[in-house]
Amino acid sequence: MTTHAGTTTTDTHCPYCSLQCGMGLRAERGSGPGIDSDASKDPGAPGDRDVSVEVVERPGFPVNRGALCGKGQSAAEVLRRGVRLTAPLVRGVDGVLREAGWDDALDRVAAGLAAAGRAYGRDAVGVFGGGGLTNEKAYLLGKFARVVLRTANIDYNGRFCMSSAAAAGKAAFGVDRGLPFPMEDIARTGCVILVGANPADTMPPALRYFTDMRAAGGRLVVVDPRRTRTAAQADLHLQPVPGTDLALALGLLHLLIADGHVDEEFVAARTVGFDAARATAMAHWPERVERITGVPVEAMREAIRMFVSAPAAMVLTARGPEQQSKGVDTVGAWIDLCLAAGKAGRPLSGYGCLTGQGNGQGGREHGQKADQLPGYRMITDPAARAHVAEVWGVDADSLPGPGRSAYELLISCGEEIRALFVMGSNPVVSAPNAAHVQTRLAALDFLVVADVVLSETAALADVVLPSAQWAEENGTMTNLEGRVILRQAALPVPDGVRTDLFTLNALARRLGVERGFATDAEEVFDELRRASAGGAADYAGITYDRIRAEDGVFWPCPDVAHPGTPRLFLDRFATPDGRARFAAPTHRAAAEEPDAEYPLYLTTGRVLSQYQSGAQTRRVPTLNRAASGPFVELHPDLAERMGVGEGDPVAVTSRRGRAVAPARLSREIRPDTVFMPFHWAGEGRANSVTNAALDPVSRMPEFKVCAVRLERVAKVESAAGEGRAIASDGVDGAGFGFGGGAGVDAAVGVGGR
Ligand code: SF4
Repeated sequence: MTTHAGTTTTDTHCPYCSLQCGMGLRAERGSGPGIDSDASKDPGAPGDRDVSVEVVERPGFPVNRGALCGKGQSAAEVLRRGVRLTAPLVRGVDGVLREAGWDDALDRVAAGLAAAGRAYGRDAVGVFGGGGLTNEKAYLLGKFARVVLRTANIDYNGRFCMSSAAAAGKAAFGVDRGLPFPMEDIARTGCVILVGANPADTMPPALRYFTDMRAAGGRLVVVDPRRTRTAAQADLHLQPVPGTDLALALGLLHLLIADGHVDEEFVAARTVGFDAARATAMAHWPERVERITGVPVEAMREAIRMFVSAPAAMVLTARGPEQQSKGVDTVGAWIDLCLAAGKAGRPLSGYGCLTGQGNGQGGREHGQKADQLPGYRMITDPAARAHVAEVWGVDADSLPGPGRSAYELLISCGEEIRALFVMGSNPVVSAPNAAHVQTRLAALDFLVVADVVLSETAALADVVLPSAQWAEENGTMTNLEGRVILRQAALPVPDGVRTDLFTLNALARRLGVERGFATDAEEVFDELRRASAGGAADYAGITYDRIRAEDGVFWPCPDVAHPGTPRLFLDRFATPDGRARFAAPTHRAAAEEPDAEYPLYLTTGRVLSQYQSGAQTRRVPTLNRAASGPFVELHPDLAERMGVGEGDPVAVTSRRGRAVAPARLSREIRPDTVFMPFHWAGEGRANSVTNAALDPVSRMPEFKVCAVRLERVAKVESAAGEGRAIASDGVDGAGFGFGGGAGVDAAVGVGGR
């Protein structure tokens, strides 16, 4: 933190994606309209925090070196009163949400959770967390579920995001860390095959690593059904049919083997299971794979030439291959390609996952996942249970076992799950088959949501608890490199708001657990370090002071004298015998393929100026102007066949539901496929259509492919939103892509359960 002439600049990080770009937050007192002035009502009025804030460059942080995308640059907008929640909301007997005091709200939450547990058993109370929560919050939320509620049913929205890569990475290498190397290694490798990733839109500052690599003579191969802005910069773009990445990886492995490029020495010394992988690859000869994927054989040959001719090379995946009902097998097939070529476990080579949410990595390491305890320990492992129980001061036998995965938890609501505590997640927009999920949430006896803004999910709740934000509290995050970084508080928590750590402490006390729920983030982190010690994700040697001094510390870091581990697997993989495992999967079709009734593929994704469910970014005027609503991208040939012109309203319908949005014509997409971004609610909600078919191992839904039909319709009734956003003291959504704009009583009452 630096202070100069009444201005304080605090080193911190962006609140959004997994790159966790370093930024400064400059706060100046008495300099005009403060962030607590209500922009929606009286733009010039000073607020009770009469301080203006501005995001500034932090060029010394190595990952982004000062660069920020528009989301990061505008992140301070969500700190303003008039955009965020600044008082708890409690639903009255008339069905209307109204502002309430904290004691009243917390009493109701404790009573609601306890009543469901008493009436239906402990596992009838569910907890649903988020990949944007700090490590401290994720850790304490997991502990709250298992020690206070004593429910097995806790999971988080990261299950929708990276869990297939996590499962495949763990199976192959013995441990899952998004990237086993720092981002800087990408710039120095010789070839990257980037599968189902679009960093040009999702994390623009990361793009320089790829451009630097190409400038140094490296080659970039992009695999994507759309010619995205990333694909447009590639040396080679392979454009497979959605859901066929697994076949493509097997076809490439076939060519690699057939052309004699297997690194026999590496395979013999450092891997297990190649014979099975060779057998499955041999059954996927190039012409067969061309028929499945639509990728020409010669393009596959070119990709393999680039990959094997580079002295070092990488395969990086993102949501494209992962969000499939065979996501674990698909990622496994790409890992097999690296292993067979000897391009893993060596400097500047390997497989990595570009994780999505800000703390998608740390959020799954510290106990927010249904089957895991802190330190990446499995909840079914007796030794793991004993270790964590000792740190928590409870009997290991009192800890519940594994619970339901995210989607399974959500659709159990109103049946096996009677009360749900949601923290930092908006499944009404982000879950697959979202209309069904919304119905299930509405069937709960009791729903509580802790969040920064009145998201579509919060608008359904019985109680809404306003959370402090990234700039108002300390906390660590673990970025896509496995680098643990520190967000530092630059501002006080505003009146009416509490930190999530406060909320967990207050609820634990009300539910009879007086100790063990610290409200100071560093104190929680120190306990997390002890809980993780000896686990795969070992944070024991990481301290806040070290993070400040070292621009983050890479796990595993078992003691304070340990330098951290930027590069994994250089000597051995993290399996018991030190060898990597081939997955040897075989191709299978998506859970739902086009047919006469639903003849097209739908694939979903993100756009540059919005983030995930849009709960925050839809409230930022600059972002909302740049990307103000949903759309359906389709090829002009398809549009002509359907009689659809640019901007015409079209309905995309699947077996689950329908979304309506304006058509956007593009030659960058396959004519058999339409694309929708998933950031919006209401009529344009892409997840009304998506398929919740789950991967059998990771339980990750198949967001990336389902069968749909397309029709031109009369009009788009509402571009976005549920008509539930509100304009009242402390709560506002008007003008930020939500429509509605009625007062609290009317709007929330209408939108309630
Ligand atoms: Fe924030 Fe990600 Fe943009 Fe960086 S790339 S500024 S972390 S949203």
